[in-house]
Amino acid sequence: MTTARAVPQYCPYCGEDQIRPWGDDPDKDHAQWKCEDCLRVFEVRYKGTTGHD
Ligand SMILES: [Zn+2]
Repeated sequence: MTTARAVPQYCPYCGEDQIRPWGDDPDKDHAQWKCEDCLRVFEVRYKGTTGHD
């Protein structure tokens, strides 16, 4: 099983792909990203896993 973080490919708000890591600590679990198109900053946080229903 990989431990790689999920990396967003597109901004969840405007759909553009001009997103860059944001913040001064890239190793923390909830990485922050900035969209260069709409200038929103968002984070991707690992919430755990689910089994099937
Ligand atoms: Zn955007």
